[in-house]
Amino acid sequence: VEQNRLHLVYQPKVDLHSGRVIGMEALLRWVEPDLGFVPPDEFIPLAEEIGCISKIGRWVLLDACRQNKEWQDRGLNSVPVSVNVSSRQFSDTDLLEVVTEVLQETGLEPQWLELEITESAMLEDEVTTTQTLKLIRERGIRVSLDDFGTGFSSLSYLRRLSLDTLKIDRSFVMDLPDDDDAKGIFEAIIVMAHVLGLVVIAEGVETEEQRDFLHSIDCDEIQGYLISKPVPPDEFAHFLEPDAQASK
Ligand code: C2E
Ligand code: MG
Ligand code: MG
Repeated sequence: VEQNRLHLVYQPKVDLHSGRVIGMEALLRWVEPDLGFVPPDEFIPLAEEIGCISKIGRWVLLDACRQNKEWQDRGLNSVPVSVNVSSRQFSDTDLLEVVTEVLQETGLEPQWLELEITESAMLEDEVTTTQTLKLIRERGIRVSLDDFGTGFSSLSYLRRLSLDTLKIDRSFVMDLPDDDDAKGIFEAIIVMAHVLGLVVIAEGVETEEQRDFLHSIDCDEIQGYLISKPVPPDEFAHFLEPDAQASK
């Protein structure tokens, strides 16, 4: 963070019914002169372990909100930016305070920010996580449960957590549309999520067959290489051009 070696890339989220870009996920990248590209799957767990993920996480929130505000000020389409939040950010810091500060500092309105959390936050400290998320949503910030279907996927969390969106893990999408079990599980999750009033997004959609199947079972949104890999901000801006959306 101090040496300015981190940067964010953005991946579009698309509404399956309209085909429009309705969101974007900010994903962290680290390129170090000696090491080259270090995958987030490697350095984020390490950052959590050595206790510096909250500092990195604050930088990610700040940069993603600043970027989104800049795009809005340029007259591009307004869509929420989703930021991944580590479970440690609930326990090590007051996440509500950090988010409030970041929105104030950048001037971004709360409805244009979404936090992606995983169930591990519930495992670390269920009471704090539940309470913090409730307050965050009361501020108008969206909350999405990432990687759903892996880990514990406790159905009681779905009742207790204050959520907007359920993000179904890539491992289920990978087996579509040939694997009957994966199809059945997917359909059931979508029905359940809709009953609970949640929006469903599938991550890691790579083929048209996967997209068509997801559309046929009433999945709301998709994200994946079929639409675009995560790209740098300059490139991402094209997805937010008013004309680009209508033609997709
Ligand atoms: P995630 O939040 O589940 O992010 C989705 C990952 O799937 C991203 O990998 C993305 O590039 C990849 N992906 C998207 N579409 C496809 C597809 O169609 N096919 C395939 N094979 N992969 C796809 P990435 O960027 O390497 O990030 C990996 C994980 O690192 C993220 O998983 C998230 O858990 C973590 N991460 C990334 N940025 C941050 C961050 O700023 N803060 C925190 N705490 N964690 C982050
Ligand atoms: Mg995510
Ligand atoms: Mg995920």
